Amino acid sequence: GTIQVGELAKEMGVKAADVIRKFMEMGTMVTINQSIDAETAAIVASEFGYEVEAATVEEEALLEYVPPSPEELKPRPPIVTVMGHVDHGKTTLLDAIRHTDVAAREAGGITQHIGAYKVRLPDGREITFIDTPGHEAFTSMRARGAQVTDLVILVVAADDGVMDQTREAIDHARAAGVPIVVAINKIDKPDANPERVKSELAELGLVPEDWGGETLMAEVSAKKRQGIEDLLELVLLQAEMLDLKAAPDRPARGRIIESRLDKGKGPVATVIVQEGTLREGDPFVAGMTFGRVRAMLNERGERLKEAPPATPVEVLGFEEVPQAGDDFIVMPDETAARRVAEYRQRKAREAEAAREARLSLERVFEKLKEGEVKELKIVLKADVQGTLEALRDALQKLSTDEVRVNIIRAGIGAISESDVMLAAASDAVVIGFNVRPTGKAKEIAKQEKVDIRFYDVIYQAIDEVKKALSGMLEPEY
Ligand code: GDP
Repeated sequence: GTIQVGELAKEMGVKAADVIRKFMEMGTMVTINQSIDAETAAIVASEFGYEVEAATVEEEALLEYVPPSPEELKPRPPIVTVMGHVDHGKTTLLDAIRHTDVAAREAGGITQHIGAYKVRLPDGREITFIDTPGHEAFTSMRARGAQVTDLVILVVAADDGVMDQTREAIDHARAAGVPIVVAINKIDKPDANPERVKSELAELGLVPEDWGGETLMAEVSAKKRQGIEDLLELVLLQAEMLDLKAAPDRPARGRIIESRLDKGKGPVATVIVQEGTLREGDPFVAGMTFGRVRAMLNERGERLKEAPPATPVEVLGFEEVPQAGDDFIVMPDETAARRVAEYRQRKAREAEAAREARLSLERVFEKLKEGEVKELKIVLKADVQGTLEALRDALQKLSTDEVRVNIIRAGIGAISESDVMLAAASDAVVIGFNVRPTGKAKEIAKQEKVDIRFYDVIYQAIDEVKKALSGMLEPEY
């Protein structure tokens, strides 16, 4: 980060000439418009008795989210992510849905991948789709504290049925509290068996409506583009129950869902607007960077002057490339935006230095005492079904009035990357019984500071969790 000499003087409420003189005393010649780095600025500021830090507290207050009043709220389109097992047709479905968009048809159907797109139905209703299928993107966003998805479409191939990643997707959606609409796909195939899929899903608690349950399901062929309208109708029905609203008449706030460095355009990122309306020229802070909206493009490459809630737009005008999952907040002016970005960079460096681990079993009691957690979330993996069930029951029975033991995922087999990501996103502890993590899972656990515990004796596992809940667990060093 840098600051101009003149600005630094203004910040401190002293004459620019005095600041320039101070520089000269320190052996440096500067002009009023010269940019100096943050470190030098801090040294000079301290000569005037200022902490550079203090000047930014004000800007941090600008970031504070003021929830809209009910009068400000207007209905907004739902934001949807497509999940499901590999090869069950997620990409094909997203493609088929894109083709139902009336605007795309008018524009000749040429669309680019910007990470999300909005579909407008003939009657004017809209749905926004995240264009990266699967639960990896969904979960890594959540792990970063960002949840943009309102609703999940779970794709299950009618000729294959419920598979590993189908179950995983259900766990991820449930952990996020996001409702699921099921698309039973590939019904054009001769060996399609939608009834079998329904009964497999019912076993997992997704009971179809026509069986007396509450889960909306559509039978589709993504490849032949059949049943797509029915599916979208169900999505809108489910969305209606969520009563999704946002305040369009305020400065925009949103999330970065994709970013890249473009050779011609410089840093670009797709922002999904969650609140307010984004306009060309708006200054903004995004994660640890900032900028001004130079141009906004939709997935058809059309330039937009404004983007209301639930609209994905590719934004040009970032100082640097932001990260997926970063927040995006419109600021009163560019100076404030830059100072907030610099303040965040400094804070990030500090945080890095004193990096705190996520919830570990050792810290459970501590956090319970502080009232920070009310439940212990566990991702449980075991080698065989019998032990898995026994452990699950026993662990759940450890729940007390003060703390609930919540098994957010229970499965057979090695601890996978997806298990660790789910734990990271939900601040859960992973317990492995007679199983080990995959290499990749181990790596991510280290990176995300997820606590993985291994046991091969059931009572030991139960005993340790019990001790953790009562503060009697010996810390491991
Ligand atoms: P993803 O891995 O879930 O994104 O799956 P894809 O969309 O890449 O689809 C995997 C394969 O299934 C491709 O060969 C598709 O052409 C095929 N496929 C997808 N949907 C259908 C469908 O409705 N019917 C048939 N017969 N094939 C489909």
